[in-house]
Parts: sequence; C-alpha cells; structure tokens
Amino acid sequence: MPFCRLPTLLELANPQHRKLPHWRYEEIKCKACDLLLDLHIDCFPIDPVAIAHRLGIKLRQYTELSPEAQLAASNASTDGFTLKNPYGAPIICYNDVMLKERIRFTIMHEVWHVILGHTEHSSLAEAEANFAAGYTLAPPPALHAYAMLGIDIDIMETCQLSHEASLNSQDRYRSWLRWHEGKGDEYRDIHDDNLELSFILHLLGADTEEREDIEKNTKA
Ligand SMILES: [Zn+2]
Repeated sequence: MPFCRLPTLLELANPQHRKLPHWRYEEIKCKACDLLLDLHIDCFPIDPVAIAHRLGIKLRQYTELSPEAQLAASNASTDGFTLKNPYGAPIICYNDVMLKERIRFTIMHEVWHVILGHTEHSSLAEAEANFAAGYTLAPPPALHAYAMLGIDIDIMETCQLSHEASLNSQDRYRSWLRWHEGKGDEYRDIHDDNLELSFILHLLGADTEEREDIEKNTKA
C-alpha cells in the first residue's frame, strides 16, 4: 500500500492533527543531522537521490512504468509513494514530470518514511516525513555555517527548494536561531555543532587531513 494520500477533510479542518510533540521534532532533527554527518554530506544542494542510493533504496519514475501502472501510480499519489518488493526492500516511485524542486522534496520525504519505519499512512507520519525532509534539505546548522562566514545565500536557489518550502526553511532557521540565542552556547546541540562545523570546513576548502585535525581538536 502507498504511504501517501491526500489529507481528509477532517485533517484539513484540524491542522493541529498534523503537529508533532516538541520532543519528536528534536529527535527527528538529531536523526537528520546524523544522516548528513554519517554520509559526509557537507555542501548544498543536498541530493536526495544520492541519499536514497547510499541507503540502498531503489527509485522508479512514473514515466518508466507501463501505462496501466502509471495511471494507478497517479491515482495513488500525484507526487510519489513507497512500496516494498517481495523481499521487503523499499522502492520509491515518484512523479518525474513535476518541477525539479518538488521532485527533490518528494524523494526526501519518501526516504524519511523509510528511515522512520512508517508502515502505513497517517497524518502523524506525513507530518514527520515533511518536517524531516524540509530539515534535511535546508538544515539550520548548515545554513548557519554560511551566516557565520558572512556568506549571504538565497535559500530557494542554494537548497533548490520550491518557494513555499524555502519560506518554511527560513522560518525553521529563524526558530532555530531564537532557540539557540535564548538558551546560550551551553545548550547547543552536539549534532548541530558537528554539522555546522562540517559545512564550515567544506566552505573554507579545508583538505581531509586538516579537517580531521580540526574535528579532533574541536571534539577534545
Ligand atoms: Zn508521505
């Protein structure tokens, strides 16, 4: 069964149904930072196709499918969904005629359904996958790395997001800044710090040996 479907009228009428508890946002945020750190991703734009491949998740475009399967896929979701093959391996099917920015978000969203172990559709699963996808494509600590170096960026262009997703990312970054400024440095999260450092080192063009030295000294 596909994971995604359109929201019900009840869900549309009650958007609070799609909100997550604070601790879950924090948990997903740490998972997103860890994913990027583990895969050594330290520059924009973050590539959801490469992430899927490195996690062993197969991708299928709607236009690769037979006409009958294409129709069934479009009826299941206008953007994409995840299926499992007979061996239980996930396959993300996505609508490749959409705009590039939308396709990137769809693939990242579906990858997060797989990582978070979602097995059926729910408004909670959708809220988690949407938050995780947005956070991964424009992680506030990585955006902060640019700000720390005085590099002014256009989030929509740099992160290759739709206009709506880039506005959400700007809001998320502003909330992140308020949270850290309000709590002071001692409350900075180790995941955030490491991801920010990773992007800064990339932007400074530090080579592998220099990076290892800096990271070792910073963690000591
Ligand atoms: Zn979904």
